[in-house]
Amino acid sequence: MEKIIMQNPIAELDGDEMTRVVWKQIKDMLICPFVELKTEYYDLSLENREKTKDQVTTDSAAAIARLGVGVKCATITPNAQRVEEYGLSKMWKSPNGTIRAYLDGTVFRKPIIVNNIKPLVSGWKKPITVARHAFGDIYRASEYKAETAGTAELVFNGEDGSQVVEKIADLKAGDVIMGQFNTEKSITSFANACFKYAISEKEDLWFSTKDTISKIYDHRFKDIFQDLYDTTYKAEFEKLGIRYKYTLIDSAVAGIMTSQGGMIWACKNYDGDVMSDMISAAFGSIAMMSSVLVSPDGKFEYEAAHGTITDLYYRYKAGEKVSVNPTAMIFAWSGALRKRGEMDGNRALMDYADALEKACIGAIEDGVLTGDLARIAGDDIEPADTDTFLSAVKERIKL
Ligand code: NAP
Ligand code: MG
Repeated sequence: MEKIIMQNPIAELDGDEMTRVVWKQIKDMLICPFVELKTEYYDLSLENREKTKDQVTTDSAAAIARLGVGVKCATITPNAQRVEEYGLSKMWKSPNGTIRAYLDGTVFRKPIIVNNIKPLVSGWKKPITVARHAFGDIYRASEYKAETAGTAELVFNGEDGSQVVEKIADLKAGDVIMGQFNTEKSITSFANACFKYAISEKEDLWFSTKDTISKIYDHRFKDIFQDLYDTTYKAEFEKLGIRYKYTLIDSAVAGIMTSQGGMIWACKNYDGDVMSDMISAAFGSIAMMSSVLVSPDGKFEYEAAHGTITDLYYRYKAGEKVSVNPTAMIFAWSGALRKRGEMDGNRALMDYADALEKACIGAIEDGVLTGDLARIAGDDIEPADTDTFLSAVKERIKL
């Protein structure tokens, strides 16, 4: 068989632990026999981030911006224990955070649906995509714990010399305060990414905040979305027969639970962080969730939503056969290759991406289940180890 040729490369960001092992298996077994794979390779393993003083992360983000498409393996975000384990000179920042900031991107997470795993919410028939605003709020907040009693104030020093002071509260020792911010630029990018993604997927867009309580902060988000919708996207939405709806976060949560699914739910940073885990768990497993970071100027980074699966990695290193579900990682590769194909007008590459996804879903629907899925499916199903599952996918790739 002749291999599929790629005109242009994608940025490949390798990672850590169990996902690094499976990453290589996916390439060796499922991609390289079919595609003359062209990537610009960046090693984001914690060892190499340490060695390059994290320069490799910034370089990889720049490569995604330059090439238009990237695919990323899960990476360790160091904490105190990892600093010790890896002998780090510094507690390097989360690579995902660095890349999101560089690309000013929005993360869209969508469950991968198979017919033999039923969502825990019985009414859900279609996937629910969570769009997380990956900038600001509590993730960039300044926090303080009072050591003595005192008064907390919000102070703004204008560059024109003006000053605004708002009292927050009288505090006692041991009380806490937090100051958070967001920018019009970032909220606008987020809103544009969401409207564009809704149009490309032809799905309704919901946006939720708590503007009844946060009358300035959250209200700003609501106004930016509404203005953009009215001025830029309304006509296109109406033409496609899709809807934009603003709703309070609590009523959105209730609405999502009682819906049939099939919408994109745009969330502020914290809401998106939390709700995407709830939605993925309710649809089956974090390993059945596709995730893509979309920048406002149309650059795409595909990844799996889960982490490096540390517990299984230590069992694997001890010589055990482990059962990793590689579905989300496979979909990261298929998503990136399909997008490369779209950008380059490469039909064969797009067809290969479809065939790879179909083979993966086919294996699961034929009952080849990794441990995470076997557990939900119940009925004493014997879980397949990673190699068995990957072989089952490979057998089913039909080009
Ligand atoms: P995790 O790696 O997602 O694993 C949590 C648990 O979920 C696992 O112990 C496993 O549980 C299950 N699981 C996740 N993915 C699976 C898969 N593909 N197949 C089967 N089971 C799967 O999260 P974590 O343990 O909290 O974090 C580990 C490391 O990953 C941390 O260093 C963290 O910084 C990093 N992390 C990276 C990213 C990223 O780069 N995108 C995201 C999150 C976390 P059972 O074995 O109990 O089933
Ligand atoms: Mg989370």
